[in-house]
Amino acid sequence: MYFPFLDEAPEFRRDVLDGLRQPLESGEVVIARADRHVRLPARFQLVLAANPCPCGSAGGQCVCPPFRRNGYLGRLSGPLLDRVDLKLAVSAVTRGDLALPPGEPTAVVSARVALARQRQQERWHELPYRLNSQVPGALLREAPWRPAARERRPLELAMDRGALTLRGLDRALRVAWTLADLRGASRPGLDDVTLALDLRTPTGVRVA
Ligand SMILES: [Zn+2]
Repeated sequence: MYFPFLDEAPEFRRDVLDGLRQPLESGEVVIARADRHVRLPARFQLVLAANPCPCGSAGGQCVCPPFRRNGYLGRLSGPLLDRVDLKLAVSAVTRGDLALPPGEPTAVVSARVALARQRQQERWHELPYRLNSQVPGALLREAPWRPAARERRPLELAMDRGALTLRGLDRALRVAWTLADLRGASRPGLDDVTLALDLRTPTGVRVA
């Protein structure tokens, strides 16, 4: 598995960014020529980072002309961002933050992730999948994997509002299952579904 990291993602060419859409969805790159198609494996975990504007200054210090500031994040297309499962708004580090105790050690988080992956392998062992990310959305929308009515409700409301596409729904379901795996639960609860939905569009991140 590769982990490409595109720092200052809006600075990349639009066609390069949008070229990532298909492999993000299918895990392969298809090269079409006049007489043949070639399929190459391309499973990777994409990490994008972006400042809110080209100069990267927080708050009132920004020196960008309004037209540049307004269009900056818009260079990441809606269809590309629809394929990004976890979006986090990160604020600038303050002096107060430096005094905070360190977070969880990497080894502790790593052990929790390994356990979550093991749960996924056990769940899907009779099917040709090892991880939640590989399971087709249609399967997660059917019994016995389909969430109960209470857990489905926030997803249905988001779809009714036009805030969630069918692709986004499937991706939110996969994330909800992973959140349940991380906390050792047998199924996603309402909190897992709600958090999975919030992580798609956190406050402070404008989706083009
Ligand atoms: Zn700026």
